[in-house]
Amino acid sequence: MTLINENYLHLEESYLFSKINQKVEDYQGKNPEANIISMGIGDVTRPLPHAVIEAFHRAVDEMAEKETFKGYGPEQGYPFLRRAIIENDYKPRGVKLSLGEVFISDGAKCDTANIQEIFSKDNKVAITDPVYPVYVESNVMAGRGGPLDKEGRYKNITYLPCTAENNFQPPLPEERVDLIYLCYPNNPTGTSLTKDQLREWVDYAMDNKSIILFDGAYEAYIQEERIPHSIYEIEGAREVAIEFRSFSKTAGFTGVRCAYTIVPEELEAEDTQGKTHQVNRLWNRRQTTKFNGVSYPVQVAAAATYTKRGQREIQESIGYYMENARIIRENLKEAGLEYYGGVNAPYIWVKTPGMSSWEFFDKLLEEAQVVVTPGTGFGPHGEGYIRISAFNSRKNTERAMERIKGLEF
Ligand code: PLP
Repeated sequence: MTLINENYLHLEESYLFSKINQKVEDYQGKNPEANIISMGIGDVTRPLPHAVIEAFHRAVDEMAEKETFKGYGPEQGYPFLRRAIIENDYKPRGVKLSLGEVFISDGAKCDTANIQEIFSKDNKVAITDPVYPVYVESNVMAGRGGPLDKEGRYKNITYLPCTAENNFQPPLPEERVDLIYLCYPNNPTGTSLTKDQLREWVDYAMDNKSIILFDGAYEAYIQEERIPHSIYEIEGAREVAIEFRSFSKTAGFTGVRCAYTIVPEELEAEDTQGKTHQVNRLWNRRQTTKFNGVSYPVQVAAAATYTKRGQREIQESIGYYMENARIIRENLKEAGLEYYGGVNAPYIWVKTPGMSSWEFFDKLLEEAQVVVTPGTGFGPHGEGYIRISAFNSRKNTERAMERIKGLEF
């Protein structure tokens, strides 16, 4: 019989969202009158900007005419979008990129999951904990995880605990690691790293010849000057880092699908003979073999986010979500709960008042009819926390927070 990739057997079952849904369903079944509000949503709730929609429509119409129809595009993305990214997202921050360093894709999820396959299976991987689960699980599938222990940790992965005790700053690994996943602003903790804090990681990677995989999916939510928007704002980062960005949370593209990855030309890794290779060339080879590009209308729509009107509309949406985040923080403070994040990210990470993540989840569901995401779903060090999302309507946010504020802790 055909053999399977047994690494998949190591994967922990993903119970999180099915368990949440089951609990909500059971509660609603027993309390049909209850008006349950979900504050656990990790998806945008506002529609696409008008500027994007109009460009999207125009590009679809181009596909209907013989003269303007487009078939396969470049696997790396159309130059008009790659240029717009360089000019708008990087140049104003003093980061120079060439066209060949920008790769358009249909999501930061696939890019952050796929990037590991251009590196050896023998590499040691370090991942912050709690974390967006894709980094861990894509490495487990590839055979870099090893078996799962009782605490929910894969044996061969180096976990970097991020908790209130260390101010959510991942500690530098004690033993050398090859690949380091950093996500800032962070999902799920909503915390961020300053330039100096991120510099420590760039220095570590330079000293140890490691590579940082930097996920900046929430970059657009950064409000504070001291927070870097790109890892390439740090000197030397071009030699040690790959950066992932997405239009998903920036411009409401979660259902449209468009993202990009920056692989600098200076970035190198070696083979077992000690010969160095350009990582950019490997990623280009991988993409041109396995990926056929993002659809033309989607890339035109993404480019429209950089127009004046597009930028204004995007800022309006981000401002709306961040006002939700402010309302959440203010109410948590009044409720006397300890919380983190929500200043440069749409997520607020709340310390449970002396109970487990699931116990606090149950309390909020039963006593406030509010659904949150238990921190344990993001890794062992998420225990004792829950995540509240600012992706919601103002009305739901205000109602949910009023209810939480009225509880006894
Ligand atoms: N990276 C992080 C940290 C995320 O939280 C998400 C989505 O929630 C993604 C990447 C996925 O982005 P995309 O929609 O571009 O696949």
